[in-house]
Amino acid sequence: MKVFAGGISTETNTFSPMPTGMRDYTVIRPEDDVEEGTMRAFDQFESDTRARGWEYVFGLYANAQPAGLTTRSTYESLRDELLQRLQAAMPVDIVLLGLHGAMVAEGYDDCETDIIDRVRQIVGPDAKIGVELDLHCDVTQAMIDTADAIVLYKEYPHTDVVNRAADLFNIIADAAEGKTSPTMALFDCRMIGLYLTSYEPLRSFVDEILAMEGKDGILSISLVHCFPWADVPTCGAQALAITDGDAEKAAQVAEEIGRRFHGMRRELDQTPHTIDEALAQAQTAPPGPVVIADRADNAGGGAGSDSTFMLKAMLDQGIENAAVAMMWDPIAVQVAISGGVGAKLELRLGGKMGPMSGDPLDLTVTVSSIVEEMVQEWPQQGDPVRIPCGDSVCLHCNGIDIILSSRRVQAFSPDVFSNHGIDPSQKRLMVVKSSQHFYAGFAPIASKIIYMAAPGAVAPRYTEIPFTRVDLNKYPWVDAPFA
Ligand SMILES: [Zn+2]
Repeated sequence: MKVFAGGISTETNTFSPMPTGMRDYTVIRPEDDVEEGTMRAFDQFESDTRARGWEYVFGLYANAQPAGLTTRSTYESLRDELLQRLQAAMPVDIVLLGLHGAMVAEGYDDCETDIIDRVRQIVGPDAKIGVELDLHCDVTQAMIDTADAIVLYKEYPHTDVVNRAADLFNIIADAAEGKTSPTMALFDCRMIGLYLTSYEPLRSFVDEILAMEGKDGILSISLVHCFPWADVPTCGAQALAITDGDAEKAAQVAEEIGRRFHGMRRELDQTPHTIDEALAQAQTAPPGPVVIADRADNAGGGAGSDSTFMLKAMLDQGIENAAVAMMWDPIAVQVAISGGVGAKLELRLGGKMGPMSGDPLDLTVTVSSIVEEMVQEWPQQGDPVRIPCGDSVCLHCNGIDIILSSRRVQAFSPDVFSNHGIDPSQKRLMVVKSSQHFYAGFAPIASKIIYMAAPGAVAPRYTEIPFTRVDLNKYPWVDAPFA
């Protein structure tokens, strides 16, 4: 057997003011040297392929930090290069694609359907196509009609990327050997939201789904969480089931799981707190570090990660023994590095990416630490993932340590602070610009975690998202959309 693997991946926030161009993509080609552990799903595809004694051809993997629409020329150029590399590898028996599922480009509402369709045109009807997606995606009927198996991450935070790659490989490899015949079905759950698998009732539901797989002809079950900041007609949560050749059972499992997911909607819809509510809750929290997630300014959802609403409130309220990570401000980083550790600076900070980032703050700060080419280690099932953050500095201002980065990256792990010599366990308050990926690293040290809805490009009050193209006969716009 000959296996071809590749992909293009980003999560598109159609409300984000920042376009995604070629410079924003990290493109890995077969000839490139990559640091061990950076290829994640593709490393798994390769090792599983070689373990079967099959041939593995890697095409190309392009990945960009979430932001606004990918420009048309960028998307078409990356897509066409991926397809040319597939064409050059023909004939192949299996194609494994690592995509996101919420990628939107100029002129393409649904890049993944376009890629899968073009791959099918090249490989013909007999080759098997397997696709791994982020759970913050939309799955279309066209995708399940064209691909042979689609497997999503099950965990949010996404700690199971490699495990799900292994699941997908096994399903596709068995199909290619003629042992199984994967059959997919979707069920529309008629809801939009962000669903955290670290908490009940979803924690147990995901575990139950994992236990159902591999039994009674069920090959895989995925919850399609959707990505709420994409104004595309397909936006919405779904359930996806794969059975071995039993279309009726796939539809039945998808509906059963989808209706149970829908039934949890009110419990899952925890409206995050305002800035003032979050700070008041932090004051009365048990002893130890309190973590406030500034979800609206999460770089990982396409926000600028430079909003000042929360920092301004903390300074106004005189909050001390606190830290904030990370603000994306490459100019301030450069100024701080020029000044050096110990420099006292009058600095204009943040608020550069438009009204959703608030106003810049003019602050008197002391540069307390500089880390060039900083890396965060994001905890995973298996080895942690190394996340490059560019150059990073810590600025101290009135009892608050403010971590800045030259690269727009969310806070994934407490080492975002400890890299700067700050002991996270000794801070009373840590504010992380992240929706949920911070959770695996911070939960073990936090006395309380508070989810906050400040203004921002990823503002987590769904009914305030200015959709124009989505059918809103869905929860929370409609309380009981199936009624
Ligand atoms: Zn995601």
